[in-house]
Amino acid sequence: MVEDVESTLLVFSSRGHHRPLRLSRGWDDALVFDGDDTLWETMPLFREAKQSFLAVVRSSGLPTENAIDRLDEIDRQRVESEGLTPARFGGSLLETYRTLCAESSVDANPATENRLRAIGTDVAGKTAMTDPAARAVLTRLRCAFHLLLLTQGDEEVQAQRISDSGIAHLFDVALVVNIKNESVYRRLRRDLLPIPRRIWMIGNSLNSDVLPSLAAGYKAIWIDRPTWVYEDETNSIPRGVHACQMLTDVPRIVTGSG
Ligand SMILES: [Mg+2]
Repeated sequence: MVEDVESTLLVFSSRGHHRPLRLSRGWDDALVFDGDDTLWETMPLFREAKQSFLAVVRSSGLPTENAIDRLDEIDRQRVESEGLTPARFGGSLLETYRTLCAESSVDANPATENRLRAIGTDVAGKTAMTDPAARAVLTRLRCAFHLLLLTQGDEEVQAQRISDSGIAHLFDVALVVNIKNESVYRRLRRDLLPIPRRIWMIGNSLNSDVLPSLAAGYKAIWIDRPTWVYEDETNSIPRGVHACQMLTDVPRIVTGSG
């Protein structure tokens, strides 16, 4: 009989501390799921924001050609200095707008800049739609695996996404980190999961989910879904990675039934 384990939001970050985790169920294997664009969809929220940005650029009389590509590139470059924060995206909208203004020898308009700040802020506040299959898939898997949720980004935004998802109670634990790199995966394995025989990481990003977890000794499943340019920098799928299209493919892979 499966013990009903209450889900706990545990913040595990390079800045802060985490509490030791005791997984009270007796399973040997653990599945670690990514959040953004694996369990819930944030890309539509960003696409909508970029269309609003484009409308602002157009109404300002600036050239719209390649405006979104340029925004993506500026946003990717600013991750190093600004991190995965809501403020970074809003700042990238402003920086792109100001660049386009400078290139057209036009003064940036303060009211337009405020509009762009609002577009950036709105993305973080909107509810991301949970994958319709997530509840059934996780309910099935938690009968045989420890389930962990590991999501990266702003703590407040991610805590809200976890809460909004409606599936947090299906996880033994949910963790928010600043960035998912090899040392985070090693630390997770060492500190939080000393017992399981095998650990799988499941996510849509080769850079954040697949490559660093593989390097830390996990097995990995890559869900081939659209992501953003920062996560898309790596194009080749390493050997041994299981690639699939949908969350509903995961049970078959982790149980070795096909
Ligand atoms: Mg993701």
